[in-house]
Amino acid sequence: MSCRIIDGKALAEKIRSRITKEVASMKTKPCLSVVLVGEDSASKVYVSMKEVACIGAGMKSRNIKLPESTTEEKLLAEIRALNADKSVHAILVQVPLPKQINENRILESVAAEKDVDGFNPCNIGRLHSRSPTFVPATPKGIMRLLDEAGVELAGKHAVVVGRSNIVGKPVAALLLAADATVTQCHSKTKDLAAFTKQADVLVVAVGKPRMIKKDMVKKGAVVIDAGTSRDANGKLAGDVDESVRDVASAITPVPGGVGPMTIAMLLENTLRAARNQGCK
Ligand code: NDP
Repeated sequence: MSCRIIDGKALAEKIRSRITKEVASMKTKPCLSVVLVGEDSASKVYVSMKEVACIGAGMKSRNIKLPESTTEEKLLAEIRALNADKSVHAILVQVPLPKQINENRILESVAAEKDVDGFNPCNIGRLHSRSPTFVPATPKGIMRLLDEAGVELAGKHAVVVGRSNIVGKPVAALLLAADATVTQCHSKTKDLAAFTKQADVLVVAVGKPRMIKKDMVKKGAVVIDAGTSRDANGKLAGDVDESVRDVASAITPVPGGVGPMTIAMLLENTLRAARNQGCK
């Protein structure tokens, strides 16, 4: 069976170019503030990618870097200041945070109208009540990829592997809102393959290199691979094995699938936040 590669890189470029044009026409440029606490090397890379993307789209980027030893109270004070700052339209706190800081308390403190990550409980609630404001970037990107690939979701069986707050849970909510019948699997799921084999649409967000093999996928399934991790040889790998291309009708590659869409969706959310706050 010929398997279509869903090109996230090309779609993300199209979206970023549309956003760049729109921002160029605005008098007040959207401003995203990313707060980074500590020295986590992956987080540093993500923050820098976000900054480059923001500036590339003509937006303003104001990153705040705090030491590993930062207290919860100090971080809360920084976020309160950003919430009150009218020149900042969007706030993102890079996770994971150091051990001494309660992540939930921090994410809850970001003003809902600036919460472009969609992790504030108010925005999470809206997502589940089908009136979303800021949809987390990776799940939003996944839905856009499915749309681009022309996948009709109503009545389909979507199986999501992974249940994190960042990817698995919100993507399951979005698939449900799109009228798919949704099954959510996780590390305690018994006989994972029995579920994945039923999927018309399979979304995998685990972080275990190539764990989904050909014999776990139904012929003709659409497969979205959010995984990005390093295999034993240090090579970047998705959660889905190459062999799945023999049976799937469409698949996202790693790299070049979900990853680029995450950044594009963050820019889209930032633009929306700025517009909602009156930027013209
Ligand atoms: P988490 O580690 O937070 O969650 C992983 C999920 O996978 C958990 O729900 C866990 O279950 C489940 N899981 C672990 N092992 C198994 C197993 N053997 N079978 C079934 N389920 C399992 O990861 P994230 O959701 O944050 O990220 C997942 C992947 O997506 C990672 O590779 C990450 O790098 C990538 N990612 C990519 C992004 C992008 O922009 N491309 C953005 C965000 C993430 P349990 O809940 O029971 O522990």
